[in-house]
Amino acid sequence: MKKILLLLAGAALLAGAALVKPLPEVKTVKVNERVYALLGPTELPNAHNGGYMVNSTLIIGDKGAILVDTGFSDEVGAHIRKAAEKLTRLPITHVVNTHHHGDHSLGNVVFPGAEIISSENCKKLMIDTGAEWIAIGESMTGRKLPNTKVVTASRTYASQTRTPAEINGVKIEFWVPEGAHTKGDMLMWLPDDKVLIGGDVLVNTVTPGFRDAEVKQWVQTLAEVQQYPARTIIPGHGPLMTLQQAKQLHQQMAAFYAGVEKVYKSGGSEEDVRKQVSLKEWQKLKHFDEQMGGNINRTWLQVEAENF
Ligand SMILES: [Zn+2]
Repeated sequence: MKKILLLLAGAALLAGAALVKPLPEVKTVKVNERVYALLGPTELPNAHNGGYMVNSTLIIGDKGAILVDTGFSDEVGAHIRKAAEKLTRLPITHVVNTHHHGDHSLGNVVFPGAEIISSENCKKLMIDTGAEWIAIGESMTGRKLPNTKVVTASRTYASQTRTPAEINGVKIEFWVPEGAHTKGDMLMWLPDDKVLIGGDVLVNTVTPGFRDAEVKQWVQTLAEVQQYPARTIIPGHGPLMTLQQAKQLHQQMAAFYAGVEKVYKSGGSEEDVRKQVSLKEWQKLKHFDEQMGGNINRTWLQVEAENF
């Protein structure tokens, strides 16, 4: 009996230790005097990273700071907030979500005083799928997220708009393309800083996720990215990008879409895509094995619908 009790106590201690185990550190990269990229790990959500896998951006204005993307849970949101608080004493007055996916938006709950900004479609999709994203986070990280709540934007921008704004003295253009990584992406262009914040429309060294993608419009959006004279691009996942790297991503996505369309038009099947479309560039990316099958399937269905 005593032995069992000791074992139980040991197990409880272990569980306690697992709970206090810190999340992977936030990698802070200074872009300029007021813009910082807060880079997260590039692994998929797991027990070790607690779902922390997103890049955030901190923009420090005159009267407050703006935080872009908040992480997969209240815990991840607080972790990112802590890193931001090391860089400024000003309050975070505004939070922006680049799209509705849980890894970008479920940390909103720890910024109760901030005005939350997203695209209109992002807000709708958060309302429709937020609970599903919390469940995904719980199952992939193996933890319960009782304090993670879906908190949606109070300021939204409509699809297919580019709206210049000024927040805390910082000029920002909010760009909502028709569709790309999701139906509700929003990119941010900082003209004075020459910084483009891409959300998951732009990712680096990881496989772009097509789960909710509008693939053809994504290719178009990447072509339009080239219009911005960006010095720095902050992607949704992975290290900072140059405009040249964004161009390469555009070419890779365009070639892939065209390749799938060619297979379809020549009477081939979805299975022929892997045989006939070169995936050499894709194979170099992280999470290729986990994501590429789904990406091919999503693209195939959209090419089919497009050509019906
Ligand atoms: Zn993401």
